[in-house]
Amino acid sequence: MENHDRIIQGMAGDGDFRVVAAQTTVAVETAREILDLAPVAADALGRAMTGSLLLARLLDKDVRNQYVTLRFEGNGPLGTVIADATVAGTVRGYVANPVPEDPILDVERALGHGMMTVVRGTPPKGKPYTSKLLLGGNGIATDLTRYLMRSEQIASAVLLGVLNRRDGVAAAGGIVIQAFPHATEEAIATIEQRIKDAPPLSTLVEKLPIEDVVATVLHGVHYKQIDAGYTVPVSYSCSCSRERALAPIALFGQDEIQEMIDEGGTEVVCQFCGRRYAFSAHDLLALTANHDA
Ligand SMILES: [Zn+2]
Repeated sequence: MENHDRIIQGMAGDGDFRVVAAQTTVAVETAREILDLAPVAADALGRAMTGSLLLARLLDKDVRNQYVTLRFEGNGPLGTVIADATVAGTVRGYVANPVPEDPILDVERALGHGMMTVVRGTPPKGKPYTSKLLLGGNGIATDLTRYLMRSEQIASAVLLGVLNRRDGVAAAGGIVIQAFPHATEEAIATIEQRIKDAPPLSTLVEKLPIEDVVATVLHGVHYKQIDAGYTVPVSYSCSCSRERALAPIALFGQDEIQEMIDEGGTEVVCQFCGRRYAFSAHDLLALTANHDA
């Protein structure tokens, strides 16, 4: 599949609304392949991945390397779901239980009740901002809308969609529409009506490029895409490294590390991309030497 995934930006209602939209079909299909996701897991993670990309872009305060991590910890069969995106358009994901036994679950039931955590940071400096919200049970888009209102004081509408076909993810994308404080009640009501009347987002994304998807949803409300120079390409990409894979082992107790040494070494598999990092007994001995120091 050729990768045309991207994030675009626009304005609607003569400047009363900011629009950020993403086409994420290839990124979500890549996640499905790497993580071996069942359809409902691809649906949940795809929405979370798209949401994290949109939020990273929406909350960008002129920082080049901001990231947004969404962590869903519900009591549903998927277990923990994590999506992690940067303002530069890279995204990665994880699902604790990618193949739940019941194949017909919808996303809400697959996540269950529990907590959503949003972490927003700008490495290398600065402390990350963390917000926690109870999962409302009405879908990831609704939870993100509540997060934006409560934690960022942003009135918004969030639309997310993933379309699974027999051979994989056929479409994935999302739109977030931010109402500026000067938007009138009437203008907000019109936009809300457009969103209500729109066909399911994923079916639009399957047929049309994201530019036309947004123009279709927001027809008649003076939607205009802003300079295509602001368009950001999106790709599934993991920032793991040998160094980072080793770091958690260094926190193990001396006995546990000795056990791994006796077994001739250990292997760490990245939960986001499946890359394998092998550490020999020799590598681990160097760790215990550091321990003593
Ligand atoms: Zn990785």
